[in-house]
Amino acid sequence: MGHMTAAAAFARRVLLAAPRGYCAGVDRAVIAVEEALKKYGAPVYVRHEIVHNKYVVKMLERKGAIFVERTEEVPAGNIVMFSAHGVSPEVHEEAARGRLATIDATCPLVTKVHKEAVRFAKEDYDILLIGHEGHEEVIGTTGEAPEHITLVDGPDDVDKVEVRDPDKIVWLSQTTLSVDETMETVERLQEKFPKLISPPSDDICYATQNRQTAVKMIGADSELVIVVGSQNSSNSKRLVEVAVGAGADASYLVDGPEEIDEAWLAGVTTVGVTSGASVPEVLVDGVLEWLAERGYGDVDVVQPVQESITFSLPKELRRDLRAEAAAALSD
Ligand code: SF4
Repeated sequence: MGHMTAAAAFARRVLLAAPRGYCAGVDRAVIAVEEALKKYGAPVYVRHEIVHNKYVVKMLERKGAIFVERTEEVPAGNIVMFSAHGVSPEVHEEAARGRLATIDATCPLVTKVHKEAVRFAKEDYDILLIGHEGHEEVIGTTGEAPEHITLVDGPDDVDKVEVRDPDKIVWLSQTTLSVDETMETVERLQEKFPKLISPPSDDICYATQNRQTAVKMIGADSELVIVVGSQNSSNSKRLVEVAVGAGADASYLVDGPEEIDEAWLAGVTTVGVTSGASVPEVLVDGVLEWLAERGYGDVDVVQPVQESITFSLPKELRRDLRAEAAAALSD
């Protein structure tokens, strides 16, 4: 505490956003890997990081999961799990060709967007998919109807968008985008294509929306906002942007307390803390402890919305996949 006065020390506080951390889709995907390991034994192969969080991936590796980027890396006769971000139909075909049993941990809210894409493509719409180029989810969704889907990566991409028939277009989106920026993109698209129709329901998922609503509230009252999450986590990165947009002087994405720079605290009275949808609470606890050791021990929870959604485990976990994989080999 050094020479600080009692009043100044007292004024230091943390605003902790809620909801934060694990969403129902991530919770389900992580439990699915653990259950598969318990039921079938190691190894269970997982195509792509099951969720975009370093800590979770390492924890599952220790338990016997093997992460691969390509389906072809999995030896025949094994079980491969698809990550929460979803995969294109081509990946299911690769798995069948490679004689693999599969468990699909795609979040049901991503599957919903896939189904919308398939339906609009069948009706021969051009689909403008708002999302980030190269993100696993965008690759998976695009794979459902590559001939019909054009990626729109933010408002500045709108000028170059071309469609076959401006009277028959619909927009869909990635589930983890910034709500505000997506609305800006949609408005620009509507100016250009007045007949553009909207998805039947929100594609940006409830968890993304709720975490942004909460970080907006803490961002307005904090000089610094620390977002716990990994660099490849789309929804976590959006939280940083939303915090700054809401009024925070600075916001940083960290995997844990070891990545916080003490200099960020200079002159800061109120620190906002939140975490992305793929972040286990233990990492947030670590950040809160780090802050408490530096005089920010007073924590107020700011909770604008309640969450109670859960998803049941992937259906394949109820079947005997080892037997299926063995049968695939002897075919
Ligand atoms: S962030 Fe949303 S879409 Fe992604 S896994 Fe979580 S609930 Fe599903």
